[in-house]
Amino acid sequence: MTTPSIDEFRTEVTAFLDANAERKPEAKAFVWGEGDDDVAMFEEVDPETERQRLAEAKAWRAKRYDAGLGYITGAAEYGGRELPAAYERLYAGLEARYAVPNQSFFGIGLGMVAPTIKDHAQPHVKARYLPAMYRGDLVGCQLFSEPGAGSDLAGLQTRAERDGDEWVVTGQKVWTSGAQYSDIGEVICRTDPDLPKHKGLTGFVVDMRAAGVDVRPLRQMTGGASFNEVFFNEVRVPDDHRLGEVNQGWSVALTTLMNERASIGAGGGGGGMGLADVTRLAQMLRHFGRSDDATLRDELMRLYTGFQVAKLTNQRALDKIRAGQLPGPEMSIAKLALTRNLTGTGEFVARVLGPRLTADTGEWGTFAWSKLVCGTPGMRIAGGTDEVLRNIVGERVLGLPKEPGIDSTSPFKDLLKN
Ligand SMILES: Cc1cc2nc3c(=O)[nH]c(=O)nc-3n(C[C@H](O)[C@H](O)[C@H](O)COP(=O)(O)OP(=O)(O)OC[C@H]3O[C@@H](n4cnc5c(N)ncnc54)[C@H](O)[C@@H]3O)c2cc1C
Repeated sequence: MTTPSIDEFRTEVTAFLDANAERKPEAKAFVWGEGDDDVAMFEEVDPETERQRLAEAKAWRAKRYDAGLGYITGAAEYGGRELPAAYERLYAGLEARYAVPNQSFFGIGLGMVAPTIKDHAQPHVKARYLPAMYRGDLVGCQLFSEPGAGSDLAGLQTRAERDGDEWVVTGQKVWTSGAQYSDIGEVICRTDPDLPKHKGLTGFVVDMRAAGVDVRPLRQMTGGASFNEVFFNEVRVPDDHRLGEVNQGWSVALTTLMNERASIGAGGGGGGMGLADVTRLAQMLRHFGRSDDATLRDELMRLYTGFQVAKLTNQRALDKIRAGQLPGPEMSIAKLALTRNLTGTGEFVARVLGPRLTADTGEWGTFAWSKLVCGTPGMRIAGGTDEVLRNIVGERVLGLPKEPGIDSTSPFKDLLKN
């Protein structure tokens, strides 16, 4: 396969986009009261609209893939172009200038599940799933959290028991984003309850339409239902769908979690970047006649500073990834900054809007903010909670002693006995 130069690739991508999508109009400067006032953290649409958007997203992904632009960095045997990551970034930058269907349906599957399949599945399983995932024919979800295992993921209880060439999976997962439209999932199960908890786990690729998989939506306080409970009732999974060796599932889970942090960092822009220049907030102050309020002005400047610092921290982490290094605690710091800035934005908005935030009067730019305020707590939990990330920063950046825990090797451990 010949490698095009980056300029040849730009020409190829531009020709593809020109032929298949409309260019977005030039972004206009934000003016209070004009355009869309949506600032929601999570997309929440009715099931019919979701089905329609998924079909559009899949059609776009297929078009991209069939043109040789769906798996730019992937191996040729799995439908990839074998091009360096810079080509992928160039594609993303060029595509952002065009109005294409929202691709967020593929975030978890391509951002986390596919890289794990690539690293841990058998070749024929990779050949079956990777091309189909990158073409958008299959959507993937992440089945890790359980009612009793989130931050302490290794405590999970869903069982997989061997039966000849198959495994029988029984248990419950929870908070599974996108399970309602996913075709496959990456599930981590306990395969040996007698081993220490990190050692008795195994990962599998599971068919979300298999007999015994029961997906039930969970309604969030924002009104939508973007995640689910997933029950496994003696679901049969072929042994060749195992990811890695038996009882080595912890390293499989870590592959996924590393990719999760990297994709949150890359997508999050280090601080709700849609709000980052605080223009919207400054215009809100002016619109409601509060521009002279010294406390609010001070708060606005603090937010501006927070967003700028987050942007630079995030940039540093992304530069590391681009240079082929593993991101370190920067990702934890970037995610903490994201949630701190969003929480601060919600508090600022609540002070300015007062009761307008809670009552839908139809007034532009008021009640719409309730979606951000109600969505931010979810962001503080997903992909590592604020508290857990602070522990990481405390231990790895500040060199503080390890947090005492039931199975930690903390220096305080002996003090906690009895
Ligand atoms: C929007 C959203 C999407 C999600 N999508 C998925 C998904 O697709 N797939 C999936 O598997 N999971 C998903 N999750 C689940 C998410 O990974 C877990 O909610 C998260 O890991 C926290 O686990 P938990 O809810 O069990 O809370 P717990 O771990 O029980 O934590 C409860 C509280 O205790 C605190 N805490 C826990 N341990 C410590 C500690 N050592 N030190 C200090 N404080 C601590 C936490 O910070 C938190 O405040 C999603 C969650 C959200 C909010």
